[in-house]
Amino acid sequence: MHPRVQREKRILETMIHTYCREVHKASDLCVECEDLIEYAEKRLLSCPFLKDKPVCSKCDIHCYNTKQKDKIKAVMRKVGPKMILTHTFDTIWYYYYKFIHKSQKAS
Ligand SMILES: [Zn+2]
Repeated sequence: MHPRVQREKRILETMIHTYCREVHKASDLCVECEDLIEYAEKRLLSCPFLKDKPVCSKCDIHCYNTKQKDKIKAVMRKVGPKMILTHTFDTIWYYYYKFIHKSQKAS
């Protein structure tokens, strides 16, 4: 597995776990969030531009379906700003930018 994928996968998991604990008040991961992680990882692994991916906001492939995209966006809004302070900046920023930027452009 590409190191970048591994890193993004790890961060994704951390974010969703944090979100679930804070918002769903689940001690472990709830079914919904488990689904979301599984879905996001599948998308990550199937991204054809992975090795030299630009920021995803410039990517033309809309690889998330609307339902899961909304969930990820909710996770990013809640957890993203905190993660930027405490975790590796670039990957978090890239996710945050990807989803927030796209949603702003669409509205
Ligand atoms: Zn949850």
